[in-house]
Amino acid sequence: MNYILKGAKQRLIFELREKGITDENVLAAFDKVERHKFIESFMQDKAYKDIPLKIKFNQTISQPFTVAFQTQLLQIQKEEKVLEIGTGSGFQAAILSAMDAKVYTIERQEGLYKETQKLLEEMDYKIFTFFGDGFNGIPQYEPYDKIIVTCGAPNIPLSLIHQLKINGLMVIPVGENTQKMIRITKTAENDFIEEEFGNFVFVPMLKNTKTIF
Ligand code: SAH
Repeated sequence: MNYILKGAKQRLIFELREKGITDENVLAAFDKVERHKFIESFMQDKAYKDIPLKIKFNQTISQPFTVAFQTQLLQIQKEEKVLEIGTGSGFQAAILSAMDAKVYTIERQEGLYKETQKLLEEMDYKIFTFFGDGFNGIPQYEPYDKIIVTCGAPNIPLSLIHQLKINGLMVIPVGENTQKMIRITKTAENDFIEEEFGNFVFVPMLKNTKTIF
């Protein structure tokens, strides 16, 4: 990694601190993961700016602050099982993996799923990638300690809460055009509490899968 990108990465971490990211494990993960490898090369000079960027298949790599904020809300501990809905570029999954979580991630666009799976493997991340509709979660590997949804959900899918351990947390942006960041704490088998953490904008969470390459 060249010194210009290294410097830009350190400035980004400083900016995340200023914007209220205090979990040192999250900040350490941002130091480890090379965001410029998750975007197309012609955009590399923007890799460490705190902005979302377009990736292939008309999707988006979330703004670094949003990734850091959602991750911080999850209170990740080492070895926890984390389910991510919306693999996209793989960057959020890589951040979770760099915090020593066991990551299961699912993507509905087949082309993107394949490309990101290959990229994560090349970079030696031990992340379990799946192709499918995240509304159903990944029932084979439940229950999860934590669930993170990285697309804007129309509502809170009960199937996902079902796959959460008791005392587990789920962070999910909910809403149509803009989303409210909601954190669910599963308090009992059929009970949960909801907290709200401000407005964000995500690409929509869509039903079914898509196989255009
Ligand atoms: N976490 C990603 C963010 C990508 S944007 C990153 O770090 O880059 C959100 C992604 O969610 C898109 O790739 C979109 O295709 C995917 N998505 C939308 N609806 C989905 C669904 N029902 N199941 C799985 N993935 C979905």
